Amino acid sequence: MKKQTKYIFVTGGVVSGIGKGIAAASIGLILKSAGYNVDAIKFDPYLNIDPGTMSPFEHGEVYVLDDGSETDLDLGHYERYLDVNLTGSSSVTAGKIYDKIIKGEREGSFLGKNVQLIPHVTNQIKEAFVENNKDYDIRIIEIGGSSGDMEGEIFLESFRQFKTQNPSDVYHVHLGYIPFLACSGEYKSKPMQRSIRELLRSGLQPDLLICRSEATSERPLNKEVLDKIALFSNLKPENVISLPDLDSIYSVPVFLKNTTIAQNLSNFIGKKVDFNLPKFYAKFDHLNQNKNCKVGLVVKYTRLEDSYLSVIEALKAASVDSGYNLEIKLIDSSSDDLIDQIDEVDAIIVPGGFGRRGMDGKIKAIKHVRETKKPFLGICLGLQMAVIEFARNECGLDVYSREMFDEDGKTKKINKDMIVDYMIGQEDIRKKGGTMRLGGYDCQLEKGTEIAKLFGNSTNIRERHRHRLEVQNQFVPDLEKNGMKISGKFFFDKKSKEYLVEMIELEKSKHPYFVATQSHPEFLSRPHKPHPLFVGLIKSIKK
Ligand code: GLN
Repeated sequence: MKKQTKYIFVTGGVVSGIGKGIAAASIGLILKSAGYNVDAIKFDPYLNIDPGTMSPFEHGEVYVLDDGSETDLDLGHYERYLDVNLTGSSSVTAGKIYDKIIKGEREGSFLGKNVQLIPHVTNQIKEAFVENNKDYDIRIIEIGGSSGDMEGEIFLESFRQFKTQNPSDVYHVHLGYIPFLACSGEYKSKPMQRSIRELLRSGLQPDLLICRSEATSERPLNKEVLDKIALFSNLKPENVISLPDLDSIYSVPVFLKNTTIAQNLSNFIGKKVDFNLPKFYAKFDHLNQNKNCKVGLVVKYTRLEDSYLSVIEALKAASVDSGYNLEIKLIDSSSDDLIDQIDEVDAIIVPGGFGRRGMDGKIKAIKHVRETKKPFLGICLGLQMAVIEFARNECGLDVYSREMFDEDGKTKKINKDMIVDYMIGQEDIRKKGGTMRLGGYDCQLEKGTEIAKLFGNSTNIRERHRHRLEVQNQFVPDLEKNGMKISGKFFFDKKSKEYLVEMIELEKSKHPYFVATQSHPEFLSRPHKPHPLFVGLIKSIKK
């Protein structure tokens, strides 16, 4: 371990889904704003190597890093709050740890030894705590799951050993939930106490507690409850912070400013923590713009808002930047009143997606916004559908995406013109993890296009990808002849003319904003630096 780095571990208890990632990212942001160099790692106790193969029902959004790692959505919070580009070593699952151990065992690294949870697995986890440390002052380490979960025990045990070995460099924040019982009109501290008891039983004494609740000014969480929790946890009242539900996730660091957090962090670091949050956060906390806008996301599953988390955050950032109060509506692309629903919003996004379900509706939605000149941004699958729509309705081509004919993850051999098709070699490998076109790729923008203007006339940008299919270049002349511009291209190498279609647009004289990208711009948007394609969409809304 490098001497100067301090480690802040964040664990959770009582229930999941109380915003451990946001709290951890907020602590990181506070420290970064106080001038420290901060990074973050998320440990997930599941056995998948990464969430790349999980369905959105299981996992929500898969967040993609520049190096191509497919990670948990909390990595998105870290990149956004800390304004950093993380790497795969910031996303560790039990699957990754065990995979290394078992591969090592087969290679003979443990020759002659009985390979055991302790010390072999715990050593591997402790190595991951300190891996890839580029001289960070502070590293935030979030342990997924809740205290008491059987599958998280090995991570907590590794943390215990690490804390014992580095007592003055490790700080433990535990986040739990205090439920309100409506029938008796009281907050109940017992579940929180139990979650702390679980930690104490594992040999872990937290240094700071963050108590989440639904407290409001009408229904305050009184101090006695918090003091009681402090007493049960061997802590002082100032080591227990109440964090109620807030209007926005960006209000969390602003709220924490008025708590004892700075004092607690200062005591740990041994220096005063004076934090100075970026202005965006305060702006978001008192959001009261004079214009409203409503953006529709035309999607396959309207119940799965978490699948579009980064798209939603990117939209929020762009709307705050343009002075709008934003309302987002998830529109089911298979619904009968699809067109009516689109007519109610000011702009639409067709975001990324997998599988053929809902594709026809997406094409119908894109045709409608193209014809009615409503601002449109297509992302990944959204670009593929926009190209099909334009080719069919403006170029008179009878074309398809190969994904429309997939069955059980197998490509059916169909004798039709595929304007969107698998890259050579990608046809039959869809079941394996980490095999798509993943991560950051350079994109060359065509000078003078609307998209290049949005990027401040830069011609070389970099965008993140996660897809398997590509627009087929033999159709490009037809698209261009009829007015679709290929504004962004990825060239295989500097000398070759061979490229992949990365971004498309219609001229401003034909449509106020008809833009699509094969990449995922949402992963590059930051709260205070919204991505140009989202800004372009919001700015083109006419009021
Ligand atoms: N399913 C499409 C592909 O694999 C689009 C993927 C996406 O939208 N992320 O190419």
